[in-house]
Amino acid sequence: MTCQRCDGLMVSERICDLQGLSSDLCVDGYRCLLCGNVVDATILENRRQSAEALQLLAGSSTRVMELAVG
Ligand SMILES: [Zn+2]
Repeated sequence: MTCQRCDGLMVSERICDLQGLSSDLCVDGYRCLLCGNVVDATILENRRQSAEALQLLAGSSTRVMELAVG
């Protein structure tokens, strides 16, 4: 896995919300060794799902247009 900001090496890491009151606010994510950019698994999952949604929209756009016209 490489960093999207600097192409540096990202390592798997458990990220905890230190400002949260609960100690359960820890997620598995990745941290860039070069610039410190942090990406958590939730963000990645959301990004992947939105990308898939965009692809679905793009792929079905012609059909939607046909339906709209018809
Ligand atoms: Zn980086």
